[in-house]
Amino acid sequence: MSLIALVYLSFAKNRNATQEDLKSILEQARRNNQEQDITGLLLYRNGLFIQALEGDEQQVDAIFDVIKDDPRHTNVLVLYKNKIRERNYQDWSMGFQVIDDETLKQNPAYSDFLDKPITMQSLRDDPQHVRTLLNMFRNTG
Ligand code: FAD
Repeated sequence: MSLIALVYLSFAKNRNATQEDLKSILEQARRNNQEQDITGLLLYRNGLFIQALEGDEQQVDAIFDVIKDDPRHTNVLVLYKNKIRERNYQDWSMGFQVIDDETLKQNPAYSDFLDKPITMQSLRDDPQHVRTLLNMFRNTG
């Protein structure tokens, strides 16, 4: 088995995705990922998704093939796909966090992200920014 992590960005088709829209994605993700032993984290902010998927390479590739064609989002851009020794989100079939302004304000560690608007371009230009962001939410759940 070859363990990998794949991280991508995408835009929600409905820029004002409702709680119900997000809940339905999350329910599907958790149900399927549990069966496939896929773990990860999904972040959402102002119409932008950031998702980390980890698991066996073949299974991650297979689920990502389905996810990237999902009509609920567009402009799916893989930021990185790396072999990993261990999982970052081993307890989460899919962790989830909406990063609203309140979330950013409540934790001083996120203050950096208040100064820089989180956009597709800024994240693509600076993948380390994404790694930092994902790591922050790994610690808060
Ligand atoms: P579904 O239409 O959900 O269901 C198919 C079958 O499962 C049907 O026969 C149905 O009857 C049955 N079923 C439905 N609900 C239940 C239930 N509660 N219990 C038992 N059986 C049920 N998908 C993932 O798998 N993993 C991800 O990490 C993931 N991340 C996503 C992130 C984003 C930003 C987006 C937009 C989508 C994501 N998706 C993810 C969704 C993905 O794109 C597909 O829509 C989804 O995988 C399809 O699931 P499904 O084949 O089970 O279809």
